Amino acid sequence: MASVVNITVHGIGPTDRDLDPGEDLTWVRIDQFEQMLDAAVGRDDVRLTFDDGNASDVEIALPRLLERGLTGEFFVLAGLLGQSGRLDADGVRELVKSGMSVGSHGWAHRDWRRLDSGQATEEIAEAHRLLAELTGRPVSRVAIPFGSYDRHVLRRLRRARVSRAYTSDGGRARPGSWLQPRNSLRHDMDADWIARVLDGRAPLPVRARKLAARTVKRVRG
Ligand SMILES: [Zn+2]
Repeated sequence: MASVVNITVHGIGPTDRDLDPGEDLTWVRIDQFEQMLDAAVGRDDVRLTFDDGNASDVEIALPRLLERGLTGEFFVLAGLLGQSGRLDADGVRELVKSGMSVGSHGWAHRDWRRLDSGQATEEIAEAHRLLAELTGRPVSRVAIPFGSYDRHVLRRLRRARVSRAYTSDGGRARPGSWLQPRNSLRHDMDADWIARVLDGRAPLPVRARKLAARTVKRVRG
């Protein structure tokens, strides 16, 4: 496979916690999320990732993934487990038990470019330790909070033996590369947006037609 599209899902549907500033821009309705999943069925070049450890990961996303035979990689905030509107320890275990992968989104949703050394230990080593303990498997993949990184952040992640780092840079990714750009769902997404993100790099009309035909078939099926 020449390239893949990484999708980032944040919150879905109703929530009982106060959203952080700007968080509403990435919060989607259930029908928008389902539209995304339906478009991902049968596409092994589409990877679904989930950030922030929202309760909707288990309550809304998990059953809909399972229904469609899809899997996702869930990047959890280790220090916020059990808070209102977030996943708790049982939720994380349920994801793993259901065949989903769990990675780290750090400890407390801090900007990794602005950490003191104590916070850096918590955000990376401590978060990995706690999540490994919870899931019973090693955790070595991270999704960088706010997609905020620089060369210092990347060096720190390499030193911590992080095996894959997801950003929010957009576009397609090489399947095996260490740094993986992702495309975040947004509150105003629709079918056109999904088609653009999934098929945006199809430059030839003939290829575009083929993809359109596949889309129609998926919708009917
Ligand atoms: Zn986040």
